[in-house]
Amino acid sequence: MIRLDEVSKSYGDVLAVDRVTLTIEDGRTTALIGPSGSGKSTLLSLIVGLEQPDAGTIEVESHLLTPKSAPHLRRLMGYVIQDGGLFPHLTARRNIELMAREDGWSAERRAARLDELRQLTRLPGAALERYPAELSGGQRQRVSLMRALMLDPDILLMDEPLGALDPLIRADLQDDLAAIFERLRKTVVIVTHDLPEAAFFAERIVLMNHGRLVQTGRFADLVERPAGEFVTRFVRASARRLADPPAAGPM
Ligand code: ADP
Ligand code: MG
Repeated sequence: MIRLDEVSKSYGDVLAVDRVTLTIEDGRTTALIGPSGSGKSTLLSLIVGLEQPDAGTIEVESHLLTPKSAPHLRRLMGYVIQDGGLFPHLTARRNIELMAREDGWSAERRAARLDELRQLTRLPGAALERYPAELSGGQRQRVSLMRALMLDPDILLMDEPLGALDPLIRADLQDDLAAIFERLRKTVVIVTHDLPEAAFFAERIVLMNHGRLVQTGRFADLVERPAGEFVTRFVRASARRLADPPAAGPM
């Protein structure tokens, strides 16, 4: 479980996260959603301990997150940053194995875990020996996910993992990710700015705007019991994209 209590974080005069209180339940997928600049990435980097809050407290699995506890707690969390964050000078295999090598895993143990993860994420075996620039966008995301899962963390944090992919690849990966979350039963927080995607992955949706938590609930709650005008506008804007596809041109 992850608990945030009145957490705030500023960069200069920008209040990126503003008094957020939130509990993230174990074994479920939570979707963190909001417009660009609403503080989603900042919230994730606070949870993972890469940034420190100016105020408020964060607990991970009942441990208070502090600069001292952060390195230990960090190992409980797999983190996929916004653009995947693979090291360009390392092959996919080396990227995935990085932390296991640091931890002194034997070659056999690494290979066995890699094989498990490759089957889970359906990455073609040959892709392991390629460098990130030689992989397709979808493969890169699969590799980033494998790297995040290598040490089998209880918590998986993903920051817009599908943001940069074209629609068909994105739909494929959505299906695969949903199946992976279902199978692993980890505590997953997935960031997206797409409401249909949030609803696809998660029963619980956390909507942010201007660093603040605006509403938490199921998709139906946001639609039927919006916590304010912003929620209504956000839901309508998403629905419009579905209802009014661009007119098809002449054949
Ligand atoms: P989101 O992920 O929802 O798009 P972010 O958490 O990235 O939002 O950003 C929230 C706000 O904080 C934005 O106004 C952004 O410009 C600002 N911000 C984020 N990170 C930094 C940083 N390292 N330095 C300065 N400003 C930042
Ligand atoms: Mg972001």
